[in-house]
Amino acid sequence: MTTFQTPRAGERMLSVEEAQERVLAEVIILGSEPVAFTDALGRVLREDVVATYDIPQGDNTAMDGYAVRAEDIANSPVRLEVIEDLPAGTVATKRVSKGTAIRIMTGALIPDGADTVAHVEITDAGSEFVTVQKALKRGTNVRARGEDMHKGDVVLQAGTPVGAAEIGVLASVQKSVVRVGRRPIIAIISTGDEIVDVDQPRPPGKVVNSNSYSLASMVREAGAIPRMIGIVPDSLEATTAAIESALESDFIISSGGVSVGAYDYVKDALDKLDAETKFWQIAMKPGKPVVLSRLRERLFFGLPGNPVSCMVSFLLFIGPSIRKAMGQRINLFPPTVEARVTAPLKSRGDRRNYLRVRVVARSGTLMAEPMPSQGSGVSTSMVQANGLAVVEAGVTAVDAGQIVPVVLFDRVFSEI
Ligand code: AMP
Ligand code: MG
Repeated sequence: MTTFQTPRAGERMLSVEEAQERVLAEVIILGSEPVAFTDALGRVLREDVVATYDIPQGDNTAMDGYAVRAEDIANSPVRLEVIEDLPAGTVATKRVSKGTAIRIMTGALIPDGADTVAHVEITDAGSEFVTVQKALKRGTNVRARGEDMHKGDVVLQAGTPVGAAEIGVLASVQKSVVRVGRRPIIAIISTGDEIVDVDQPRPPGKVVNSNSYSLASMVREAGAIPRMIGIVPDSLEATTAAIESALESDFIISSGGVSVGAYDYVKDALDKLDAETKFWQIAMKPGKPVVLSRLRERLFFGLPGNPVSCMVSFLLFIGPSIRKAMGQRINLFPPTVEARVTAPLKSRGDRRNYLRVRVVARSGTLMAEPMPSQGSGVSTSMVQANGLAVVEAGVTAVDAGQIVPVVLFDRVFSEI
């Protein structure tokens, strides 16, 4: 009979923060590649983007109306001659001089001579002549040249993740090709003699592989590319071979087999491959056994097999690593907010506990609704969860109504 594995000498449990720091310190920033700006969504910029011209290109009108001289309308109501009509995108050929106005549409450049736009609502909307009913301060309704971007401004910094607003700015500065971080390739291995795949028969004692798929989805959500290695039986040889076959990837993630069970071979396989194991225990629940190893320039993350432990350790350690590897410089970790729990929380008190909650904004206050079942094997406790309520070691109960820190890993729910 194989015996249980025993903790190795000199190994101590790290705090989550220590582990996060050590993980990030190991992450190497990967190379970059040029992509069409329309394909940059979800990627990380690897070059500063500079405005090549002023936007807007000249002073222009924020309103539909009449370009006038403020002094001409000082004693309103006043009647002015309309000398030209200026749709957006056209440039005036005439100059606004005393007693005249040019009809102008939002976005059009302010004609020479004019300094103010009388919006149509304060006029009689005339075409040959217009009556302006109200005096306006000079510059009213005029948007200044370069108000949005000035030529030479760095409008997007290297390290910025690209969302819709960034794509819009890239379009404005006509940056049709932009350099972004390469998407990391992440190998995913599921270990366990009991694990069968989705399309396989499921005799008693077997468990259907869900971790490979939830992990692959989290990898995609983080902007990386999953590479499915499949299911590996609990043997040293098979585990070693699977890890070796994954070495072409940037990171390797395994699920299962990192605990102290008699058939947990991930750590031994890493030793056999001469990996440099950095740590394998973190003072948290779920997910105490989490292995971080460096293996021939690759980072190896050995996650526990329980589906919730797997996802929680991904959120706390691997997601931030992927973002850093792609070149992101800030906002690597999910933020912690304070929320009021709507039901009591229980914890063993021996380690920091991350309890799954659904954070809802109720009349402007963040409320955390705990999932009814909190077992680390209860994969449905992650369904619709967007937060992890943090109950520190030493605390065994939190009453309903108390405020707790919550690691927010998805958008807050709206009340309706
Ligand atoms: P382990 O960390 O290998 O001791 O596994 C812990 C628990 O997670 C066991 O109940 C396993 O059956 C379960 N488990 C391991 N791998 C997977 C997987 N790929 N999909 C779903 N459950 C798993
Ligand atoms: Mg196992």
